[in-house]
Amino acid sequence: MAALRTRRTVATFAALLLTVAAPAPLPAATPVEPLRCPGPQVPRRPFIALQRLLIDPGHGGGEPGTIGVAEIAEKHLALLIAKRLRDRLRELDPALDVRLTRSADIDLSLQDRAHLANLWNPELFLSLHLNAAPNPEAQGIETLTLAPVGTVPGDPVPGREAEGACSVAAEVGVVGDDTAVVLDDLRRAAATNLSLVAAELMQQSAVTATGGYDREVKQGRYRVLRGLYMPGIVVELGFLSHPSEGRLIPLPAWQACTVEALIDGLLRFDATLAKGDYPVASPDASRPVPAAEPSADPAAAPTSPTRSAPTQDLP
Ligand SMILES: [Zn+2]
Repeated sequence: MAALRTRRTVATFAALLLTVAAPAPLPAATPVEPLRCPGPQVPRRPFIALQRLLIDPGHGGGEPGTIGVAEIAEKHLALLIAKRLRDRLRELDPALDVRLTRSADIDLSLQDRAHLANLWNPELFLSLHLNAAPNPEAQGIETLTLAPVGTVPGDPVPGREAEGACSVAAEVGVVGDDTAVVLDDLRRAAATNLSLVAAELMQQSAVTATGGYDREVKQGRYRVLRGLYMPGIVVELGFLSHPSEGRLIPLPAWQACTVEALIDGLLRFDATLAKGDYPVASPDASRPVPAAEPSADPAAAPTSPTRSAPTQDLP
């Protein structure tokens, strides 16, 4: 009997231990911080110098981009925000011609995005993305712009690795024509300078109007920006991987706040364009262009460039 009681006591004690050792219920999902939105800082007005704006929603089709805590693909959110921005800009200034590189969930290569931009030649190419990082605490806004050729190691263009990682020829498909290469370089240097101005204005505006964490402007050889003949920037609007920020991004209120912040940046860039007060190393278009030297060795001439560079006199 005593032995039985002892066994029962042991069993009861073991059950108690099990209860105590049982895993605690999972903590509730990290509460979403309330949306901070100081709001727009720049009075709304029609645009002066910015006449054409190309908005590029990142990814699309078979490239979903990042999928964060809210489990909504970056490609969908980028498109949603791009359309909100387009519609708001049209409402604000019907004279501004604002277009999207894609308006549906389709595949569009980075090279094709740049090519579309060069054909249309807007004053600004604005690519919208959402960020992600292995560190779940990473959050905030960063704006990316192109570093000048040769300053930052770049990735080779697939299939054209032999031409070098960062050479102009490798990036825009100009091969064997030195004059065209030099003109391309000058034209893109001018665009790169102005891109940095646009990036700084956009970053500052986005941080101020949304209250987001400032991850600053970063320069690199970003493939979507390489080959552009006009200023181009990528705005990484927030981290889908952040437990709180990632849940705010899909909300219409967050997107409306972000769209107004982007408009602040666009209005500031427009004012800078209108004043003409920015560093530009533009090629002298009035100078006659010397005829290209024929290649001494016909075998060295390009046989099949993957695509020709856009001409200098774009529509
Ligand atoms: Zn992206």
